[in-house]
Amino acid sequence: LTEPNPLILIIEDEVQMRRFLRASLSSNGYQVTEAETAEEGLTQAAARNPELILLDLGLPDRDGLVVTQRLREWAKTPIIVISARGREEDKIQALDAGADDYLTKPFGVGELLARIRVALRNVARGELGTSQFSLGELQVDLIRRIVLLKGSEVHLTPIEYKLLATLIQHAGRVITHRQLLKEVWGPGSSEQTQYLRVYMRQLRHKLEQNPSRPRYLTTEPGVGYRLRTEE
Ligand code: CA
Repeated sequence: LTEPNPLILIIEDEVQMRRFLRASLSSNGYQVTEAETAEEGLTQAAARNPELILLDLGLPDRDGLVVTQRLREWAKTPIIVISARGREEDKIQALDAGADDYLTKPFGVGELLARIRVALRNVARGELGTSQFSLGELQVDLIRRIVLLKGSEVHLTPIEYKLLATLIQHAGRVITHRQLLKEVWGPGSSEQTQYLRVYMRQLRHKLEQNPSRPRYLTTEPGVGYRLRTEE
């Protein structure tokens, strides 16, 4: 018996965009359901229980940000925002509202499918509970709190370790400066972006072969950081 193909809910008012998404997703083995408005999207999310949601921000009845906030009151379903709004603050708002990732229109099918795979894999990992993370030459044992690079132990300060562990929890996804500061330093420190820059630089010096061209800990300019899940 095989698992049914993952169901993806598309919340998007543009007919052409929906057609493009439906064709790309179905030909890659996903089941698809569609909604044209925010209200219909919320209804379908509750009724069909999709594995993932692709969400446009500019919807006729309500902003996609509101949809994200409403969904996050009861669902952990990964949300990938697809929007023509490419400004940094739009991305930050969507991610802070609880979206998992953000694609600016126009985007390619390859990029879309890669982001979907990462988001679905993160759900699977979350359900299993991750105790090991590995990426290229980097291995992290989250139970024993051991970080290995090319098989040799790397000594991290407690804050550096917490920063890395937080990025691992969100691996593959963008995490905003504000989210990282809140999770590592606690609420009330969300404006202290200089801490973050200092510690991220230290972490890169310890983990990256070339810290100015990081392979693992990448920068999302003006938005935050992303720990990659594959090289
Ligand atoms: Ca739209």
